[in-house]
Amino acid sequence: MLATFGWLCAAHAMTGLLALLLLVSLLYATAPLYAFAESRPFAGPRWYNPYGELTAPGRWQKASFHAHSVAWGGATNGTQSAEQVASAYQTMQYDIVGLSNYHSMSAAARTGTFPVYEQGWNVQKAHRLAIGGDAIVWRDYPLGQTAHQKQDIINRIALTGAVVVLAHPALRGGHSTADLRQLSGYDALEVLNHFVPPATTQWDAALSSGRAVWAMANDDSHDVRRAGETGVSWTLLHAPSSRPDDVRAAIRAGRLIGVRGAGGQAQLAFVSQRMIGDTLEVRVRGPVGGVAFTAQDGLSRTAVVTSANGVTTARAVARPTDGYVRATVSGTGAADRELLLLNPVIRWDGQLLGAGPATVNAPRTAALRWFACCLYAAAFTSMQARRRRRVPSARPVQV
Ligand SMILES: [Zn+2]
Repeated sequence: MLATFGWLCAAHAMTGLLALLLLVSLLYATAPLYAFAESRPFAGPRWYNPYGELTAPGRWQKASFHAHSVAWGGATNGTQSAEQVASAYQTMQYDIVGLSNYHSMSAAARTGTFPVYEQGWNVQKAHRLAIGGDAIVWRDYPLGQTAHQKQDIINRIALTGAVVVLAHPALRGGHSTADLRQLSGYDALEVLNHFVPPATTQWDAALSSGRAVWAMANDDSHDVRRAGETGVSWTLLHAPSSRPDDVRAAIRAGRLIGVRGAGGQAQLAFVSQRMIGDTLEVRVRGPVGGVAFTAQDGLSRTAVVTSANGVTTARAVARPTDGYVRATVSGTGAADRELLLLNPVIRWDGQLLGAGPATVNAPRTAALRWFACCLYAAAFTSMQARRRRRVPSARPVQV
C-alpha cells in the first residue's frame, strides 16, 4: 500500500517537472532572434551635451529608483515595510522615491511613491528597472539569457511606456560588455549600485559601440537601517517636476548625474558642463580631489584643472576618433569617497543620437521555431512509444 502511494507521488512529481520543463522550454523556443545595430563609434559634426539645455525650466532633484521593501508576503529580499522605506528616503530629503520591488508596483500605489519595479526572475540576475510605466512585464528567461533574449525583455518593457534601465550590469555578469556592445532600446545603465564596484567598463563598452545610454546611480537598498546600502548612491535629475512624464523625458535626454555620497548627502556640487570646439569643460564646487576624463574605448584623456573662487574647472580635448567624452569628479578629505559621474558629450548629426534599434531577424526566428517544433514532435513520439511498451498486453481470460 505504502509502496503504491510512494510510486504515485513520484509519478506526479515527474509529471509536474516535465510540465515545468515544457513551459520553460517554450519561453526559449518562442524568443525572437535579432539583427543588432552595428557596433561603431558615435559620429557627426556636432556634440550633444545632455546638460546643454539646463536653462529650460527645471531644477535638480534627488532621486532613488532602486530600493526594496517587504513584498510578496516576505518571499523576496526586503526588510522594512513600504511606508518605512519611503519615510527613510523622505527623511534624507529625496525629491523622488521609487520602491522597486520585484514585479510589483503595489507599494507605489499604497505609499504614493514613484511608479517603478525591478524586472527579472532569472538565475543570471539580468535585472531591469522599469521606471514610470503602468504595466508589469512578467515574461523572462529564467535559466540564463543570450543577448537576443535580453533584447526581447528590453523591448517588452519599453512597450509599456516605461524608461528601461539595466540594473547592476556587473552583478553575476547580468549584462556583460559583449551584451552591451549589441543591445539597444534601453535608456540608462545603473553604473553605481552598492553591491558592485562602478560598472564603468560596461558603460564604456556601450558608449564606445555608439549606444547613447546614460549613467544612473541607485542604492539598491534591501534594509534602510544599514548605512552602507542606504543613501550611498543616488541620481540627480533635472526636470521641471517629479511627474512621470517629466522624469521619463529627463532620463531619456540624459539630464542625470550619478552621485556617490553618504546619508543622502554630498559636498561635491555640479556647476556646468559645456563644449568649446572639441574641448569639454566641466565646472564643480566643493572639495574636488580630481577630475578624470574618459573617451572612446574607455581610454583616459589628459585633464587640465584650475580653481578660482571655490569653483574647480577641468578641461580635456577630444580626439577626432573620440565618439564621446565624459567626466568623473572625485572628492578629497572628508569627501574622499564621493563621486559625481557626469554623462558624456556625444558626437551626432543633430537628428539621430547613436545606433538605431535592433530589429527582429524573421527568417532566423522562424527557423528556430521550426526546429523547436521538430524537437517537441520527436520527444512526444518517443514518449508515446515508451508508454505503449510499458502497458502489458491483454491476455484472454479463461473461465
Ligand atoms: Zn536586482
